[in-house]
Amino acid sequence: MVRCESLVHIYQTGSVEVQALQGLDLVVAPGEMIAVVGASGSGKSTLLSILAGVETPTAGRAQVGEWDLLTMSRADRVRFRRTTVGFVRQQTASNLVPYLTARQVIDLPMTAAGTRSRVRRARCDELLETLGVADCADRRPAQMSGGQQQRVAIAVALANRPRLLLADEPTGELDGATSAEVFEAVRHVNRQFGVTAVIVTHDPEVSAHVERTVAIRDGRTSSEVVRRAATGADGDTRVSAVEYAVMDRAGRIQVPREYRDALALTRRVRLALERDHVTIHPDDTGATA
Ligand code: ADP
Ligand code: MG
Repeated sequence: MVRCESLVHIYQTGSVEVQALQGLDLVVAPGEMIAVVGASGSGKSTLLSILAGVETPTAGRAQVGEWDLLTMSRADRVRFRRTTVGFVRQQTASNLVPYLTARQVIDLPMTAAGTRSRVRRARCDELLETLGVADCADRRPAQMSGGQQQRVAIAVALANRPRLLLADEPTGELDGATSAEVFEAVRHVNRQFGVTAVIVTHDPEVSAHVERTVAIRDGRTSSEVVRRAATGADGDTRVSAVEYAVMDRAGRIQVPREYRDALALTRRVRLALERDHVTIHPDDTGATA
């Protein structure tokens, strides 16, 4: 559903260049729900804006379904944003309109897409119901809780039946219990509608709701944590989490700082191929970098 390879994005303001993404790799399978984590400024929002078709990447490859985000025309970009992706933005307030009710705001993207009114009404009811906010149908944002507002925002994003749902820190302004409720709502639509979901968060709790967490550091994917549930001989189900380093097409991987510090790995290391793994040894020639 999503394929990014060596993705680069540079923001240029006047004479200042910021390289927000510097060779990011990411693959998301259809129907998957993943979390993207990383420190502030690591490039998470930039990645989502690119996948949402809002920003055009500077270099590399980025595809969503059959759409190529680097070469698509302006008209295709409009169509892509209307039909293929749904985007929940970082600020809660920016997803809704103060003077529109939940029903009216969910209706907007469908009206823009030229959907007939009977279909719009049925879809709106289905979304309000699925997201557990049927009681908010005729309320304006000021009459809803933060969690209800975000669930309505998800309904808006899903109105035109996109294949990819993107959410940028959808729970950033919510407390723990309400956050869990919003993540569960995304999980629910992911299962019910089969929509692929990519959620940016700095909430460590979110990894409990997804099978895969991708970590971005300095504009590159540095690691992935994969969660698997396995049922043992005693019938108990245990969830194991395994951390993987991400290797790019050229074979580069990032060795975590703790590992480098522990063995004084610096500029040059020695690699050895074993039967079923590779070892990395410190430079033992006494040469200084
Ligand atoms: P995150 O969402 O992980 O906090 P961002 O993608 O927002 O990170 O930002 C990545 C880098 O790009 C940061 O250094 C940020 O200052 C810079 N940046 C983000 N948006 C813009 C912009 N519109 N213009 C210039 N620089 C930007
Ligand atoms: Mg951000």
